[in-house]
Amino acid sequence: MNKKERALFVEKKLAELFPNPKAPLKHKNAFTLLIAVLLSAQTTDKRVNIVTKDLFKVASTPEAMLKLGETKVYEHIKTCGLAPKKAKAIIETSKILIDKHSGKVPKDLSLLEELPGVGHKTASVVVSEFFKKPAFPVDTHIHRLAQRWGLTSGKSVNQTEKDLKELFDEMNWRNLHLQIIFYGRAFCTARGCDGTVCYMCKSLYPNRKNKIKTLKA
Ligand code: SF4
Repeated sequence: MNKKERALFVEKKLAELFPNPKAPLKHKNAFTLLIAVLLSAQTTDKRVNIVTKDLFKVASTPEAMLKLGETKVYEHIKTCGLAPKKAKAIIETSKILIDKHSGKVPKDLSLLEELPGVGHKTASVVVSEFFKKPAFPVDTHIHRLAQRWGLTSGKSVNQTEKDLKELFDEMNWRNLHLQIIFYGRAFCTARGCDGTVCYMCKSLYPNRKNKIKTLKA
């Protein structure tokens, strides 16, 4: 198979395995999605959903979050990785949203990326998931799978995002982002495989004999 054929195969198989993929982070509005994605860095989605269950009961808007204050936000999220940094970023982001964006989450990727604690991937998730605008959030897991499936040279996360956007129709970027993550969680863990075990790699590379090495992001 060439690269385009591999992409089509992956797209078809993922659609069969994970039809209508749902975003795993619970949220009530654009602001709570933004905060949940911010919290998910180095923290499992399950953990984020546990802490946000109570946090969003008391603070589901920038105004309420600012009123809650950094110390109480920290108390809610302290079981997440990097909690002190995240609590600070949540308060700063809430303040900027109120001061510069009338308390609303901007739809524009570049404006989102200006917010503290919000990188390109976080901004892409919000834009894609909430505002339904084409974006392809690529994290280290997607970066790893795209390499194992021969869909990118794997030079960097940015390069992987560019390669995937070229290979797939933008109408399907949102679903593919979730489906690749789900496939990784179910079958293809960070250290668990050398690229010769499961259906996907066996189908894409039937003659693969040697273990593959993936480049870190
Ligand atoms: S064979 Fe291994 S590397 Fe390839 S998709 Fe399956 S688990 Fe991942």
